[in-house]
Amino acid sequence: MKLFSPDTIEEAVELKSRLGSGARVLSGGQSLVPLLRQRLAQPDALISLGRIAGLADIRVNGGASIGAMTTVRAIEVSPELRKVAPILPLACSSVASVHVRTMGTIGGNLCHAEVGSDPPQALLLLDAQVDAVSARGHRGISIHDFVQGYFTSVLDDDEIVTGFSFTAPSPSARFSYKKYSLRAMDLAIAAVGVGVDFVGDRCEWLRIAVGGVGPRPVRARQAEADWHGCPLNDLTRNAGGLGEDVAREVEPSLSDVFGSEGYRRRLVRAGVKQAIESLAASYAEEVG
Ligand SMILES: Cc1cc2nc3c(=O)[nH]c(=O)nc-3n(C[C@H](O)[C@H](O)[C@H](O)COP(=O)(O)OP(=O)(O)OC[C@H]3O[C@@H](n4cnc5c(N)ncnc54)[C@H](O)[C@@H]3O)c2cc1C
Repeated sequence: MKLFSPDTIEEAVELKSRLGSGARVLSGGQSLVPLLRQRLAQPDALISLGRIAGLADIRVNGGASIGAMTTVRAIEVSPELRKVAPILPLACSSVASVHVRTMGTIGGNLCHAEVGSDPPQALLLLDAQVDAVSARGHRGISIHDFVQGYFTSVLDDDEIVTGFSFTAPSPSARFSYKKYSLRAMDLAIAAVGVGVDFVGDRCEWLRIAVGGVGPRPVRARQAEADWHGCPLNDLTRNAGGLGEDVAREVEPSLSDVFGSEGYRRRLVRAGVKQAIESLAASYAEEVG
């Protein structure tokens, strides 16, 4: 197996275009290296992105652009991101351990498309766009289309992800992230990201993303629409009903040693309920 360490993205793109599916991109190696060790992946070549300048930048300006090589830890501790999009650092803080977060990159996390990853739920709430490049040019991919199924993304064999961007949500929006896993290090059995914004006593913005329960992380768009405009008191009183609606809509289909479909359904219900209750309570306390 050959290892290439190009200095520029153009060189990396040329290599990927020439070597196609025989070459794997290497970012932090947290997922790929274990696969190589176990011979579950046996590529002819690795293309490391580690020497390419500018792929690990975080730029904040009415939103954010984040390079694919930005580590999960750098996002977690970024003061700018905590201000403009607190859900992303929050979800990143749930990833594994400090060691994995310090090595693993946001690009690698998303491209690996593993069920139960944490950052995708935040990127879904933010309606992020994924930027990919190939010899054919640049392509913007909606985060909603990026993960296609278990360990499968929409990327073509010759494409490399260079980063993500999103518009900042309203500064008054508040977020919660609930992850259920066996141990702190583990991937989520179910994970729920919720964003709400209240105007007066009404919920005027509601976003709910669920991961870990099926082939791809998803937004619960029907429940978001149905509960939009709900008075604060009703939302608090009926948070369990919203949880029910979300669980029915996302229809958990994954059953494994960590939990059945039914168990995952209950976790989704509980996660939405807890998230809504705590967000509504903190808003109610703030406005008196
Ligand atoms: C012990 C352990 C616990 C973990 N727990 C969690 C957890 O709780 N939550 C969670 O979200 N994640 C968890 N992970 C997964 C971890 O977050 C990912 O391994 C990591 O983020 C992958 O990023 P990487 O940079 O290491 O990618 P790599 O391992 O380098 O690459 C992963 C895959 O993506 C491809 N790839 C990488 N970068 C690009 C790119 N820019 N363009 C195209 N393809 C690319 C590679 O070819 C490879 O197929 C855990 C991992 C470990 C080892």
